[in-house]
Amino acid sequence: AGTGKFFVGGNWKCNGTKDSISKLVSDLNSAKLEADVDVVVAPPFVYIDQVKNSITDRIEISAQNSWVGKGGAFTGEISVEQLKDHGVKWVILGHSERRHIIGEKDEFIGKKAGYALSEGLGVIACIGELLEEREAGKTFDVCFQQLKAFADAVPSWDNVVIAYEPVWAIGTGKVATPQQAQEVHVAVRDWLKNNVSAEVASKIRIIYGGSVNGGNCAELAKQEDIDGFLVGGASLKGPEFATIVNSAT
Ligand code: PEP
Repeated sequence: AGTGKFFVGGNWKCNGTKDSISKLVSDLNSAKLEADVDVVVAPPFVYIDQVKNSITDRIEISAQNSWVGKGGAFTGEISVEQLKDHGVKWVILGHSERRHIIGEKDEFIGKKAGYALSEGLGVIACIGELLEEREAGKTFDVCFQQLKAFADAVPSWDNVVIAYEPVWAIGTGKVATPQQAQEVHVAVRDWLKNNVSAEVASKIRIIYGGSVNGGNCAELAKQEDIDGFLVGGASLKGPEFATIVNSAT
């Protein structure tokens, strides 16, 4: 871990029922979480209210998506204003499932980030390459292109956390090695230094996501440029998620 405050987000994706989420929240409420870590969970939209009303204030709430502008005639969408109305502090944007399954494009994702930030939400900005892109030696190119789309649209990087999530590692059980993750995190920081500012590059938190679990988090957390994690599957188990939250200490 680097010098920034460690940040761990749990992305619950499209999982859970009222009952299972009530159990997960109660496990998280009774877990011991180190003080010096930002902890965020992202429930499905329909459970945000339930979670916000039952979870400890120690844990902030993130959405998994938000609409690109002010709400209105956009059937099926959820606006940033509505999220704020429910006490949501963060939104995950550019997740690989939205890029590659739903088909969201770089520019659209950048605009969503710009709008969310301008309205005061923090953004967990996800980037990452497909397996064939890694095998073709294009990892940095793909990550930089996705970063550029965020850079072109965000008013400031103050409330942004970058999540490097290689697509081949998400939900596959194939975690990146600490060296593979560290290498990309350094490249992302360099890109920010060269294209945004040295200050943003040194301050921003770059977290890793992709099959992080209670067994592999400690080794990853030792890397100097890994400032936390975005966790999918393992965030649905309270005690394991707590282990990941506490992995840097
Ligand atoms: C994710 O969805 O952001 C993620 C990293 O998933 P998993 O931990 O299940 O690979």
